[in-house]
Amino acid sequence: MNSLLRTTSAPVFPDARGRYGTFGGRYVPETLVPALDRLQAGVDQYLHSADFQSEFVHELKTWVGRPTALSYAPTLSKRWGAQVWLKREDLAHTGAHKINNAVGQILLAKRLGAKRIIAETGAGQHGVASAAAAARLGMPCVVYMGAVDVERQAPNVGRMHLLGAKVVPVTGGDATLRAAIDEALRDWVSDPDGTYYCLGSAVGPHPYPYLVRELQSVIGREARAQMLEQAGGLPDVAVACVGGGSNAIGLFHPFLGDAAVKLLGVEAGGRGTGLGDNAASLTSGTPGVLQGSYTLILQDAYGQVQETHSVSAGLDYSGVGPEHAYLMTSKRVAYESVMDEEALDALAECAKFEGILTAIESAHAFYGARRYAKAHPGAKILIGCSGRGDKDMPILQRTLLKDL
Ligand SMILES: *Cc1c(COP(=O)(O)O)cnc(C)c1O
Repeated sequence: MNSLLRTTSAPVFPDARGRYGTFGGRYVPETLVPALDRLQAGVDQYLHSADFQSEFVHELKTWVGRPTALSYAPTLSKRWGAQVWLKREDLAHTGAHKINNAVGQILLAKRLGAKRIIAETGAGQHGVASAAAAARLGMPCVVYMGAVDVERQAPNVGRMHLLGAKVVPVTGGDATLRAAIDEALRDWVSDPDGTYYCLGSAVGPHPYPYLVRELQSVIGREARAQMLEQAGGLPDVAVACVGGGSNAIGLFHPFLGDAAVKLLGVEAGGRGTGLGDNAASLTSGTPGVLQGSYTLILQDAYGQVQETHSVSAGLDYSGVGPEHAYLMTSKRVAYESVMDEEALDALAECAKFEGILTAIESAHAFYGARRYAKAHPGAKILIGCSGRGDKDMPILQRTLLKDL
C-alpha cells in the first residue's frame, strides 16, 4: 500500500520567470518577447480551462487513439529477470507521442486566433504530427526542415506534403534541426499575431517547456493508472529516452511525487564520449544558453554549440529541456547514456521476442531498462515506448539487416 501514497511533494516548477531551479527562462531577442507574452497569456487563460481540456481529451480519444495500451512484456521479463511493462506511444496516431503535443498546441493556436501554423522538424516526426493535426483542425501549416534532413528523411517529407503542409528546406547553419528551429523563430517574429509556432519538444524559451510538459503528461497519467490497475502497483522504475525530453517528462511528471518510483532518462551515447560523437547533453554537457533556454548543452570551451551524433535522428540534438537539467541536478531523475550499437541490439530483441518494432529512439530506453534489470533482479519496470520503428527502416537496412 505504501508505494501508492505520494510521499514527497516536489517543488512545483516552473516559477513565475519560467525557471526550473537555475535552468529555463527566456533568453530571446527583444523582437520575440511580444509573441512569447501572447503565448503565455494564452496558456494561462486556456490550457487548464474546462472547455479546452474537454476538446483536447475528445481529440485524443477519438482521433489520436488514446488511451494507448499498457502491455506486459512476458518474454523480455523472463530474459531480463524482471517484470517489464511497456507504455505504447507507438500505437498513437502517426506512430509516436509527438501527436499529443501537436494536437494540444494547434487547439491552443485556434483559441489565440492564429491563422497559420509553423513548425520545425528534424527527423520529420514532429513535422508529420503537426501537418496531421493542422489538417485535422483546418489550419494551413508550414514546416521548416534542415536541407540535410529533407534529403535524409524523404518518406516523411512526402507524408507532410500529402497531409497538406508546405515543407521549407533550411540551408543555413548546420542545415539540420538547430537551423530549422532558428528559421521557425524568425518566421514567427515577422507575424506574431497571425502565426502560431508549434514547437516539438520540451525545449526553447518559457512557456514552451511547461506547455509541452503539460500536454505530454497524459502519457504518465495514463501509465500510472494502468500500472495500478494491471500490474497491481506502481513500478519500481520508469525509463524513457531523452532527446529534447518531451516523452520522458510526459512519462515522469505524474510520478514525481511518488518517492518510491525511480525515474531513469536515457540519452544517446552515440559512438563514444568525445564531443561530437554523441547527443548526451545531460550526462556530458555543460550549462549554457541554447535556443532561448538556459540548460545543459554540448558546447566547446568557447561556448560554440557542437554538432551531435546519434543513430536515432530524434535524439540527435545538442540541448535538452531545462526541466531535465533541473531534475538531474536535484537528483530526482537519474540519467544515463546508451550507445548506438546497444540501442540497435535492444531494438532487435524487442522486435523478435515481443513482436514490437520500436523506434530507435525508444530502443535506447529498452537498453537502459535491460541494464537496470540486470542490476535489480525482479524489479517492476515501466518503459516508455515512445514510437514505432517503421520510419527507421532505411537505417535498419544499413545496420541490423546489412548482411541479409
Ligand atoms: C522525437 C522522438 C523522440 C525524442 O523526442 P523527445 O522530445 O525527447 O521525446 C523520441 N522518440 C520518438 C519515437 C520520437 O519520434
